[in-house]
Amino acid sequence: MRNLLDFDFDSTHIWHPYTSMTHSLPVFGVHSAKGCELELVDGRRLVDGTSSWWACVHGYGHPEIIGAMEKQLHQLSHVMFGGITHAPAIELCKKLIAMTCEPLTKVFLCDSGSIAVEVAIKMALQYWQGQPQDKAQKQRILTVKKGYHGDTFAAMSVCDPEGGMHTMFGETVTKQCFADAPRTRFGEALHPDDLAQMRGILSEQHSDIAAVIIEPIMQGAGGMRFYSPEYLLGLRKLCDEFNVLLILDEIATGFGRTGKLFAYEHANITPDILCLGKALTGGYISLAATLCTDKVAQGISQSPAGVFMHGPTFMGNPLACAAACASLDLINRNEWQAQVVAIEQQMRLELKDAIDLPSVKDVRVLGAVGVLEMHEPVNTAELQQQFVDLGVWVRPFANLIYIMPPYIITPMQLSQLTGAMKQVAARITLADDIAPTQATASFISHG
Ligand SMILES: *Cc1c(COP(=O)(O)O)cnc(C)c1O
Repeated sequence: MRNLLDFDFDSTHIWHPYTSMTHSLPVFGVHSAKGCELELVDGRRLVDGTSSWWACVHGYGHPEIIGAMEKQLHQLSHVMFGGITHAPAIELCKKLIAMTCEPLTKVFLCDSGSIAVEVAIKMALQYWQGQPQDKAQKQRILTVKKGYHGDTFAAMSVCDPEGGMHTMFGETVTKQCFADAPRTRFGEALHPDDLAQMRGILSEQHSDIAAVIIEPIMQGAGGMRFYSPEYLLGLRKLCDEFNVLLILDEIATGFGRTGKLFAYEHANITPDILCLGKALTGGYISLAATLCTDKVAQGISQSPAGVFMHGPTFMGNPLACAAACASLDLINRNEWQAQVVAIEQQMRLELKDAIDLPSVKDVRVLGAVGVLEMHEPVNTAELQQQFVDLGVWVRPFANLIYIMPPYIITPMQLSQLTGAMKQVAARITLADDIAPTQATASFISHG
């Protein structure tokens, strides 16, 4: 038996995502992870339904990613990126440019998804600063409700205004423009009014708006909503019509999760700026990237600053780039395609009858994402414990019980996950019995 962790120290001194330091929530000690399983310090093994928040798509302990990182660690773990370059960064950016759509030719490497969004917004603002005087006023960002783009200030400003963190930080969060979230679900014909409000805002305010930012096809932590590719296509056309840049945040959807390599492929469009993160390194180390077109890069060069004003300390970290190169090599073998199709089909089959449970409002599946939307918010801590007792790792939030497993999951492991989701949902009875939502679980976050 392994030594158990010092949980008392943890709860007294260490923040966890979206938690209180005085009323800590239970945490589970993980000792190691392999393939699609987490091993707890007490020896229990859990099938992972989260890919550690979309990131760990190839599973844990993958020998090729570990090998690439080990090799890089000995050669060059880190070096500043100012005035210096190195093979892992060059190789990674070549791969990213080859994998993404043709117009995206310039890559900015940064530390995390939120920073990739900050970088994208700065790019859009600086682009317009480089245009003739009448365009230089374009400084606001337009987005849709129910979105999630990260936890830093510019990213927060474009998260869902109701569920997000706007009100908590008051004046410090920039007021952006919001249209209603897309209503047309994935697979449905576009509702004729779905883009009307977006068109209205753009036609009235386009001279103030620098860019539209949106998560393509799947709104993740803002509600796990899958919307129509026709909506995204229509939005691209509106951006062109009103001379506004389109930023796509593919931090959750990128690298195959929705069944296409990038979710924008469902709509056959290309963005002006693209944010990538999470699965970029296969979940082995933090890294994100913001790609843009020649046009955007040109505009930034014409801005008064003349250069792009961002440069984090760990920009282009070689160890992270090496992990990403190995992960993208695995993606480029294209095994994910058949894996994601199989996961999608199995989840459709196995989650379908959950709709008959009284607590369940909607069941939806897209690619390797399976969602039970509940009528009421759930108690994250309580449900998490139930899932652990059933031998799986699932982390519900708000009124959502959802999974996005590693692509390498076996049919048996996946059945364990879907079975546990239904069992846990079946135990939830409606109305009075519902436990009050944890403060931490009630506001929108990927926590
Ligand atoms: C997770 C996420 C982010 C933020 O990424 P971090 O690495 O957590 O900063 C931004 N946008 C989307 C769509 C995400 O899912």
